[in-house]
Amino acid sequence: MLNVPSQSFPGPSSQQRVASGGRSKVPLKQGRSLMDWIRLTKSGKDLTGLKGRLIEVTEEELKKHNKKDDCWICIRGFVYNVSPYMEYHPGGEDELMRAAGSDGTDLFDQVHRWVNYESMLKECLVGRMAMKPAFPKDYHEEKKVLNGMLPQSQVTDTLAKEGPSSPSYDWFQTDSLVTIVIYTKQKDINLDSVIVDHRDDSFRAETVIKDYSYLVHVALSHEIQEDFSGLFYRKCQLVSKEDVTHDTKLFCLMLPPSTHLEVPVGQHVYLRLPITGTEIVKPYTPVCDSLFSEFKEPVLPNNIYIYFLIKIYPAGFFTPELDQLQIGDYVSVSNPEGNFIISQLQELEDLFLLAAGTGFTPMVKVLNYALTNIPSLRKVKLMFFNKTEDDIIWRSQLEKLAFKDKRFEVEFVLSAPTSEWSGKQGYISPALLSEFLKRRSDTSKVLICLCGPTPFTEQGMKMLHDLNFSKDEIHSFTA
Ligand code: FAD
Ligand code: NAD
Repeated sequence: MLNVPSQSFPGPSSQQRVASGGRSKVPLKQGRSLMDWIRLTKSGKDLTGLKGRLIEVTEEELKKHNKKDDCWICIRGFVYNVSPYMEYHPGGEDELMRAAGSDGTDLFDQVHRWVNYESMLKECLVGRMAMKPAFPKDYHEEKKVLNGMLPQSQVTDTLAKEGPSSPSYDWFQTDSLVTIVIYTKQKDINLDSVIVDHRDDSFRAETVIKDYSYLVHVALSHEIQEDFSGLFYRKCQLVSKEDVTHDTKLFCLMLPPSTHLEVPVGQHVYLRLPITGTEIVKPYTPVCDSLFSEFKEPVLPNNIYIYFLIKIYPAGFFTPELDQLQIGDYVSVSNPEGNFIISQLQELEDLFLLAAGTGFTPMVKVLNYALTNIPSLRKVKLMFFNKTEDDIIWRSQLEKLAFKDKRFEVEFVLSAPTSEWSGKQGYISPALLSEFLKRRSDTSKVLICLCGPTPFTEQGMKMLHDLNFSKDEIHSFTA
């Protein structure tokens, strides 16, 4: 599968070596890191064999290039010669070869539709497929002027042809206001089900219903050219950056004024930055600005800030660049993704959170949401694994919350404590878990959430199954 890397290549023992979600990355040869790839693409070497010429590729021609040393792949209508990239692909050559000489768009989307392959592979671009237009010919004509009813066919189903009945929409306009009404025929549409962006001539409203995403995208006056598939990014401004621990910071980004975006509980977004001329993308899980946000003034519905707790790895690829950003600088933020379903929390009695390091981030909103919105909840227990006391994110807030809300308990477990530490020690273990995971009764509804380095999550999952918790009672956060 075309698993273009979004990250540099961790050492063989690094926790980042295995992609979350269980997709293994293969060991790469020396000199085949993301940085090496970027260097090669900047070297001026002819990577397509076409000396910079772009050609129109027929299906017959594409099919011919299906060998490792001559491998073309089409993604969203663009054809790339990926042979030079083979040895740099973290998913391995065989994964890439699955799409050799064919249209790899679906395979690519299954793995990482958020990866910025256009930028990663731009020097490998052979040309465009000679193919039919993706939209009906009259598409741009129809959506040109926003001053009347548009036909229902303008509601583009971006992800699937099947699913809940397609929404329709209409709209009306006064001197100063355009109101767009989207009819979804769904009862439980929340603010976080709708993402709205307006930029230049482009207006976009994405409605997320169950597993489907419906996109209304109209050009307000001029024809617009936008990639309808893949994730949509908008530029957000860095408005503050505060130290939380010696290596973790709270970043606050401001959405553009014309964007409405609320990241649902348990979901992550992708941040995108140009690094040495290539767009690099990494996932991050938005948090609340503090654990006590529910005690503050009600949040305005038009929430314009997104907060992230991000650990800066000095030898990392992305985070040092992020840390270099100055207040006022921009970073692109994608639409949310993730498979946590909020209804898993309904009627819950016991919620157990097992977090390691920055694996704490998805727990923040889950914790807040459960304590404020789940009346059946009796207990929320967080077991928070860190190396040292200095690494514990928001320790005093967690202790305060435990003091204020008797339903909440927190326990810290350190893997590399100093001799003064009198609390629990070690890695995640069956002994720690069986003592910690005491449910109220055999029939109480329980959910255990798990997030951290891949070995932590994998070992934890196995231990939980051995302790007889069912699949429905466990949620592990991965990409
Ligand atoms: P990388 O370049 O990936 O390096 C990571 C580590 O590997 C570092 O310790 C680095 O020193 C080491 N390393 C790199 N290259 C080598 C090498 N050649 N040899 C040996 N070691 C090496 N992180 C957060 O901080 N906050 C979040 O909210 C958050 N949410 C996430 C959500 C999801 C769904 C996922 C999957 C991950 C999330 N992460 C989060 C992790 C984040 O996506 C990045 O993996 C992390 O920020 C590291 O990125 P980086 O490019 O700076 O480091
Ligand atoms: P870290 O290196 O500081 O380790 C924190 C704790 O994790 C350790 O104290 C230990 O208890 C445990 N741990 C580490 N290595 C382990 C191993 N090999 N086996 C068992 N337990 C181990 O952690 P960090 O640098 O903060 O990294 C956090 C990780 O969480 C990253 O890999 C990040 O990608 C991941 N993360 C994932 C998501 C998500 O998938 N939604 C969200 C946030 C963070």
